[in-house]
Amino acid sequence: MLRGIQAMPTNALEAIIDDIVTANHILAQEGVVDAFGHVSARHPTNPGHFLLSRALAPELITHDDIIEYELDGAPVQPDAAKGYLERYIHGALYEARPEVQSVIHSHSRSVIPFSVTSEPLRPIVHSCATIGRHVPVWDAQDSFGDTTLLISSMAMGRDFAKVLAQNNSALMRGHGSTVIGRSVREATYTAVYLEVNAGLQLQATRFPPVKYLTDGEIDAICGRLADAKPAEGYDRAWAYWCRRAGMEPTPRFVG
Ligand code: MN
Repeated sequence: MLRGIQAMPTNALEAIIDDIVTANHILAQEGVVDAFGHVSARHPTNPGHFLLSRALAPELITHDDIIEYELDGAPVQPDAAKGYLERYIHGALYEARPEVQSVIHSHSRSVIPFSVTSEPLRPIVHSCATIGRHVPVWDAQDSFGDTTLLISSMAMGRDFAKVLAQNNSALMRGHGSTVIGRSVREATYTAVYLEVNAGLQLQATRFPPVKYLTDGEIDAICGRLADAKPAEGYDRAWAYWCRRAGMEPTPRFVG
C-alpha cells in the first residue's frame, strides 16, 4: 500500500516537506539510514532557515514532524519538539555553501571502513560519480580531542564544513558520512550511491590494482545527470525508490 503523500503540493514549502518525508522513507528502505540518520532541506523562500525532522527514526517521519531551524540550529518556534543533536551538521553546511539545498547524514555501514583506514573512498562505477572526485575524512580528534564523535555544536559543524569544503560528500571518522545536493532528490541519489560505491570498492580492493573513474569521467557523468530530462537520472531513481518504499511519487513542484 502506498503511504504518505496523498495530494499534489500546492506551494514550494509543502513540496519540499513532502520530499524530505519521502527521502527519509526511501533511505530507510534502501538501508542507508536505520534508527539514526537525517535528511534536511534549505527553506525554499527563506535561505537563512532549514527544515529537518524532530528527533525520530527516519522510517517513522511524517509531514507534521518537520521543524524549521535557523542556520545556527535554533528552532524558529521556541516550543518546537526535541531536535536531533547533530542538526549542526546541516546548519553549518547551509551557512558555508549557499548553493546547497539538501544535506543527508547517515551511518551507512559500508562507508565506515573508509573512515578509519588510509584507503580513500573513490568512485569506481558510473552511477556513483556524484559522490565526487574526492571524499575527505573529518576526524573529531583533530580539533576537539576525545568526544562522543557526534557533531553536537556549531563549532564542530563549522569544522566539519571546512573539511567537506567544495566536495559533495565527506566521511566522519568512526561515525558515518554526510552528502550535499542541489535538491533533496539529488542528495538522496548521492547518499544511496555513496553506500553502493563503498560496498563495491570493498570487494574490488581484494583484487588490486583497482581502476577508478578518472576525474574527467566523473565530471562528464555529473554533467549528464545535472542536465537530465524528466524520467531520467535523479527523477527515474526517485520514482523507483518511492515505489520500493511504498511512497506516492509526486512530480517535481514547479512554482
Ligand atoms: Mn551521526
